[in-house]
Amino acid sequence: MNTSSLPRIAVLATGGTIAGSAGDASKTAGYKAGVVGVDKLLDAVPALGSVARIHAEQIAGIDSKDMSAALWTTLARRIDALLAQDDIDGVVVTHGTDTLEETAYLLHLTVKGAKPVVLTAAMRPSTALSADGPLNLLNAVTVAASKDAAGKGVLVAFNNQIHSARDVTKTNTYAVDAFRSPESGVLGFVQDGRVEFQRVAVRPHTGASEFAVADQWPMVEIVASYADASRVMVDALVAAGARGIVVAGTGNGSMHATLTQALAEAVKRGVAVVRASRVGSGHVMRNGAASDDALGTVAGTLNPYKARVLLMLALAAGANDLQRIFDTY
Ligand code: ASP
Repeated sequence: MNTSSLPRIAVLATGGTIAGSAGDASKTAGYKAGVVGVDKLLDAVPALGSVARIHAEQIAGIDSKDMSAALWTTLARRIDALLAQDDIDGVVVTHGTDTLEETAYLLHLTVKGAKPVVLTAAMRPSTALSADGPLNLLNAVTVAASKDAAGKGVLVAFNNQIHSARDVTKTNTYAVDAFRSPESGVLGFVQDGRVEFQRVAVRPHTGASEFAVADQWPMVEIVASYADASRVMVDALVAAGARGIVVAGTGNGSMHATLTQALAEAVKRGVAVVRASRVGSGHVMRNGAASDDALGTVAGTLNPYKARVLLMLALAAGANDLQRIFDTY
């Protein structure tokens, strides 16, 4: 086979269970994430050689529970630099599943290039029986090598499905079909070398996004509402200098009265407060379960973790029209 005409795909490894290792092949929960190097991950998938020419880089080797905003900045800038190269046709990022949805959404809103960017991961470590990483990696490279994937924003290829970074979320602690896009559904499928898109995400992303990664990130934290919630955490965050608070509210973004009082005071002190929901699917209606007009809060359709990403980006950009931003992205 003449491989010189194959697309050239950059694989950027950051760690995660896909690069996890355990002493025993029967172990799928007790293992160390992010310890297997990118070359070894690629060696486990000989079939990659007939899909793409690979350029590999080890960006980090972490358990994604430890992902940082500083690493997001490094990653986004490296991806854009690679996409600007004529000899790179797309980028794949290997990542842990725990915070994959946050990194994917951050990149969706900050990477400017239109070439495919695809994240993938695994639920089982590379040493496990029936490890899911090798096939997920092959499928991610297959999607990144597909012209059809260009211009669709950052994608997540996992368990034969293709998700938009905006909507995908981890929904299971152990199963290999851990990712879902609640309400909106998958964008398409990848199987046996065939990439099939069925829909696109219509909200702005990549080159159409107004956001960029920052060198200094504003402090934005998440507070949950629940029965008997107190105001201790909100008060502590305000005292610590938080610029933004996302509320993982009950139901349609409703908040305990005690929390509501504390948040209203936080808004008066200049803290941006966004209402999201802890429910896992569905949106939060502005002026629905709480009066955003009276409280000075913002309501959005993102889950709390993605709402935090958008609020960080908006505050880093100096934006003050936060409801427009949450209605747009
Ligand atoms: N803790 C791991 C990580 O996020 C879990 C995984 O990758 O599945 O890095």
